[in-house]
Amino acid sequence: MDDILSEENIRTDAIAYYLEAERIYPPGIPFDHPFIKALKEVLERLPDDIYYIVEDKIWFTVEDIETMYGINVPFKQTCLPSEERIEIDIVNIIIFSECLRLEHKAIVGVISHEIAHTIVGYPKDPLSVERLTDELAIKWGFKAEIDAKEATKVKRQGYS
Ligand SMILES: [Zn+2]
Repeated sequence: MDDILSEENIRTDAIAYYLEAERIYPPGIPFDHPFIKALKEVLERLPDDIYYIVEDKIWFTVEDIETMYGINVPFKQTCLPSEERIEIDIVNIIIFSECLRLEHKAIVGVISHEIAHTIVGYPKDPLSVERLTDELAIKWGFKAEIDAKEATKVKRQGYS
């Protein structure tokens, strides 16, 4: 092995830093936890431009509530008055315990789907939004994982 820093190595270091930074709540989730394992895989596989969006403005929260798999909560606010407009633009992705009971592949599917909501947003027609969001994650290379996520929904109702 040579020790030239390839782009892959740079991404690996950045992911390790992201997982240790205070971007995941609650803090101190072990590295062998199903959520951290799935998030690490998603971060490794995302296209570069999307990976940088995650690094730039996405936070994750793991909630012990059984309502849905996950939700993408955007927060955008311009702080005024101020000589320079300060714009806060962050996204909190909340992953619920119901999701964490799924197999690894389906958790990866949920996380990639929730990240895709950051790009697709939540326009008016919820069903078409969910389809477009899945399609974007599939375009990033997560087809098997989106299929695994969707297969679990046969047994349950609700969308996230
Ligand atoms: Zn969704």
